[in-house]
Amino acid sequence: MIDFDLSDEHRLLEQTVREWAARDVAPYIRENDRQHRFDRDRIVGGMKKLGLFGISVPQDYGGAGMDYVCLGLACEELEYVDTSLRVIMSVHAGLNCLTLLAWGTEAQKQKYLVPQAQGEKLAGYGLTEPGAGSDARAIQTVAIKRGDRYLLTGEKSWISLADVADHFLVFAWTDAAKKQQRDPSGISAFIVERGYKGFASGPMKEKWGILAGNTGYFTMDGVEVPEENMLGRPGEGFKIAMFALDQGRFTVASGATGLVRACRDASVKYAKERKTFGVEIGQHQLVKQMIAHMESDYQAARLLWLRSGWLKNEGRRNTRETGLAKWFATVASERAAGDAVQIHGANGYSDEYPVGRFFRNCKGAVIYEGTREIHTLMQADYLLGYREDRPLRCELPPHRSHN
Ligand SMILES: Cc1cc2nc3c(=O)[nH]c(=O)nc-3n(C[C@H](O)[C@H](O)[C@H](O)COP(=O)(O)OP(=O)(O)OC[C@H]3O[C@@H](n4cnc5c(N)ncnc54)[C@H](O)[C@@H]3O)c2cc1C
Repeated sequence: MIDFDLSDEHRLLEQTVREWAARDVAPYIRENDRQHRFDRDRIVGGMKKLGLFGISVPQDYGGAGMDYVCLGLACEELEYVDTSLRVIMSVHAGLNCLTLLAWGTEAQKQKYLVPQAQGEKLAGYGLTEPGAGSDARAIQTVAIKRGDRYLLTGEKSWISLADVADHFLVFAWTDAAKKQQRDPSGISAFIVERGYKGFASGPMKEKWGILAGNTGYFTMDGVEVPEENMLGRPGEGFKIAMFALDQGRFTVASGATGLVRACRDASVKYAKERKTFGVEIGQHQLVKQMIAHMESDYQAARLLWLRSGWLKNEGRRNTRETGLAKWFATVASERAAGDAVQIHGANGYSDEYPVGRFFRNCKGAVIYEGTREIHTLMQADYLLGYREDRPLRCELPPHRSHN
């Protein structure tokens, strides 16, 4: 049976996040963006009060126990106001918490997932390196076993929350021979604490978008990580990294959908305020066309991420569908943001209106968690039979209570 209705819980969550973001974030976001300020107290404090950090983590592990559609709705509402808020959800709630939930031991979940889900600790995801983005097998970070510990050495770059997160999911080679052969079954995953000796972080100073967010790098110089902090088994790191992306991409898809809606709403408002040739610019057919495309993109993007959330709730594999949702929504958000600036004319080219910020913010998501080109190739490869998803040892727990 197909049911397009949101449940009462979904609606309440959507409304609550929308009201909080409009009241407690929107009035301050332009200044935070201008000052490149990660407003930790206001944003992290507010999201913690709302229970967003562990929104889809079961209550047994300190979370709110809501379904995956709720996670998507929260991301859509957050990015409607600013991308930096949704990025926190992507790395903390999506890439990190849901991966710990699926792959963590009971002890790891108690030690790391519980405080993360409660918002006591922030968590990030460290895959990218200066020489390895799309080509994740090119990472150079190594983890060498010494007794009951691993010594991690390497550098991770373009890491969201690098300067503020407490825990990171880090990927490193544990098998030197496989590193030489680029065989990803030589990569393992680790939980690394900021407080470990030899860990240092800093900001990406030249970044020009998502300026109210924190993005940086971290270095590990022989960081001693206890062996019980390996997530999954030795050699499962690459699979875990890709599993995490299935969760992160879901939040990016739903967030970018919110950004399309923000562009649409700002454009509709402006098109009724601004007059040229004696009429509101909304009366011009070419302006209508841009606004109409924003609506079709918004509705299509929303259906795609909702389907992906539904598949997650059902406990079904969704790598393909989530990738499609992420690809479509991020490319649509870039189109919508460009057109929103266009509709605002010169005013769109200034910081007086939010659409310039939307334009700067949208581009990151077309790059991270699989670039537009990588997703294009992936979708073609599914169709051509060059790619298929095989069952994983650990899967995301389903959440069927709403269906
Ligand atoms: C704001 C921001 C936040 C980020 N946060 C994180 C984070 O928290 N954690 C993390 O691990 N990473 C993070 N990243 C890094 C991000 O995941 C990488 O930037 C991304 O994977 C792309 O890698 P790259 O930048 O090295 O580009 P490259 O891989 O060098 O790609 C350069 C260009 O070549 C194209 N290209 C590459 N390979 C192919 C191919 N086979 N076929 C066709 N075209 C190709 C790409 O599409 C792109 O257009 C973040 C990035 C940004 C911008």
